[in-house]
Amino acid sequence: MQSRDVVIVGAGHAGAQLALALRQQQFAGTITLIGEEADLPYERPPLSKDYLAGDKAFDRLLLRPAGLWAERGVAFQLGRRVVSIDPARHLVTTDDGAEQLYGTLVWAAGGPARRLTCPGGDLAGIHTIRTRSDVDRLRAELPDVQRVVVIGGGYIGLEAAAVLRKAGKPVTLLEAQDRVLARVAGEPLSHFYAQEHRAQGVDLRLGVSVSGLSGQGGRVAAVTLADGTLVPADLVIAGIGIVPAVAPLLAAGAAGGNGVDVDAQCRTSLPDIYAIGDCAAQVSAYAAGARVRIESVQNAMDQAAIVARHLTGGEAGVPGVPTFWSNQYDLRLQTVGLSIGHDQTVLRGDPASRSFAVVYLRDGRVIALDCVNAARDFMQGKALVAAGARVPAEQLADVTIALKDVLV
Ligand SMILES: Cc1cc2nc3c(=O)[nH]c(=O)nc-3n(C[C@H](O)[C@H](O)[C@H](O)COP(=O)(O)OP(=O)(O)OC[C@H]3O[C@@H](n4cnc5c(N)ncnc54)[C@H](O)[C@@H]3O)c2cc1C
Repeated sequence: MQSRDVVIVGAGHAGAQLALALRQQQFAGTITLIGEEADLPYERPPLSKDYLAGDKAFDRLLLRPAGLWAERGVAFQLGRRVVSIDPARHLVTTDDGAEQLYGTLVWAAGGPARRLTCPGGDLAGIHTIRTRSDVDRLRAELPDVQRVVVIGGGYIGLEAAAVLRKAGKPVTLLEAQDRVLARVAGEPLSHFYAQEHRAQGVDLRLGVSVSGLSGQGGRVAAVTLADGTLVPADLVIAGIGIVPAVAPLLAAGAAGGNGVDVDAQCRTSLPDIYAIGDCAAQVSAYAAGARVRIESVQNAMDQAAIVARHLTGGEAGVPGVPTFWSNQYDLRLQTVGLSIGHDQTVLRGDPASRSFAVVYLRDGRVIALDCVNAARDFMQGKALVAAGARVPAEQLADVTIALKDVLV
């Protein structure tokens, strides 16, 4: 096995993009993707948006048409999970006992949705949204469902609530923090989205924790809150984050904890093993030098490009400014930068107009923007975040001044 032969674990966004980028860089070795799911690589973002709504067929989620992979000389082993790695022998073992040698191993395994661990967390009718089959199962149950409870007020929980409200389902959303999107956004944005969901008929309950779920005939019938309140439910969606899928890597001795630690070139601490995408924890200039795991398509693509260039002898580069998006009702949220550690927020525009931005600063420098139906601010704000621009708050708040004009 030559070091030119690349085995990629995980046929998701990051893994697929790496395979394509390697071929674009004229990589001549073999490329094998081992993936636990049965499907060819597909986009996950629509799973909690148009695909959940039934507005997009699965074929339109595929990252590339099926035939393209063979043309590019990319081989797949689907429906197989890598369970162990032997770094000394450059060998991985899959759950069916098969062994596969690698020259370079790239771990791009993302992470399964975190499951509820409280009593009743395994009843029928409790769902997560991470894979196509998760959503197919959920959608199959929807026609018979009267009362939906969503647990978790992050992007995925809110997007699912929006889709199900539009489908006419009564939805209760339970969030343990005192505001939605608490992990990723500032208060003005959280309050705007809370108001929006309430206006759309979501029974939004903040600062409540789930202590258990009870069922009837094996199927969920209610969610119990810590104060004893019972919330009736015949379908529950848990949107409570992911658990990075890195156990085999850590067992093989890789450094990590919350994900696997990687350096600027996405190398783990084990020889010839890289990690990219949702499972990789990397020091980020956009998080004041903290090690972070970024769960976004942009990050998966950027890290894939870095590894492809590194493996083909090019200048590896660094990940670009982090970007995210979320669609809820008629609201398109676009985020640039990481707001973690901000010490000031500036509201740009009037939330009542349903087009505005929240600008986040740290030590007087712009570090992130959340833009709601404000695509121009998103595009122009990128340069401010990339430059770590110092801009007076009055200028940022003044919608008559374009953000491209405040960067001197
Ligand atoms: C519902 C939903 C909505 C989202 N919306 C957005 C959005 O609007 N914008 C945005 O930027 N991002 C969004 N994301 C996040 C984005 O999809 C992820 O950041 C991206 O998919 C990460 O790519 P990845 O390759 O790291 O992981 P994944 O795409 O999860 O791929 C990892 C693959 O590895 C497989 N795998 C895991 N362990 C093993 C193993 N041991 N052996 C073999 N295979 C394994 C998994 O089954 C999976 O197929 C969303 C995610 C979800 C779930």
